[in-house]
Amino acid sequence: MEDEPLLNAGVGACLNADGEVELDAGVMEGATLRAGGVACVRDVRHPVDLAAEVMRDGRHVLLSGSGASRFARDHGLEMTDPSIFINNRKRQQRLAGADTVGAVARDADGRLAVAVSTGGISGKLPGRIGDSPIPGAGMYADDLFGAVCGTGQGEAFIRLGLARLMVVELQHGMDPAAVAKGAVALLGKAMQAQGGVILIGRNGPPHAAFNTQAMPFATAQ
Ligand code: ASP
Repeated sequence: MEDEPLLNAGVGACLNADGEVELDAGVMEGATLRAGGVACVRDVRHPVDLAAEVMRDGRHVLLSGSGASRFARDHGLEMTDPSIFINNRKRQQRLAGADTVGAVARDADGRLAVAVSTGGISGKLPGRIGDSPIPGAGMYADDLFGAVCGTGQGEAFIRLGLARLMVVELQHGMDPAAVAKGAVALLGKAMQAQGGVILIGRNGPPHAAFNTQAMPFATAQ
């Protein structure tokens, strides 16, 4: 999805206030609670792969900016000229930071995971970090309870610790569909924020909820 210019990630990412692209991505593995996040990345072709490499490396959870780029080079990830991410300036400027991409998954053995990648919010200040690379804010996965991914105003997700909150609600036995709906209601009520979530529990189908006009999502078995 980072290769799809229609989506706010990779080559379709929105522009910051300086007209440049700074990418965030995160991954988490529910079996081990290992997580990796990268922020303000400008020259890595696939930031979500870099987030996975940070997770596998295991020394840290979050890397940003030039340090994240150096880590990417050292670990043999594909680097690119930052201009590749700016393919249709006008269209990218129009986007209000929507269309972050994310996925939650459960495999046949019940292992859960989440991955998310984004350009963040259109017109953001250079150096701004959103919720997507932060475990507990924009994403979370725990095999015992569920996996969650969010999209929308990242500052609100961070302030609410929303992804972790949702997993705690699953832990307390709440119905996954109600957890998804409740999270979006909280976004609107407590933060006057817009967004959406996708979620999958230990059993049953995935769920989605949003208070934006639309949030395209798909499921696969
Ligand atoms: N949540 C992302 C961010 O704030 C943006 C989005 O989901 O569209 O960086």
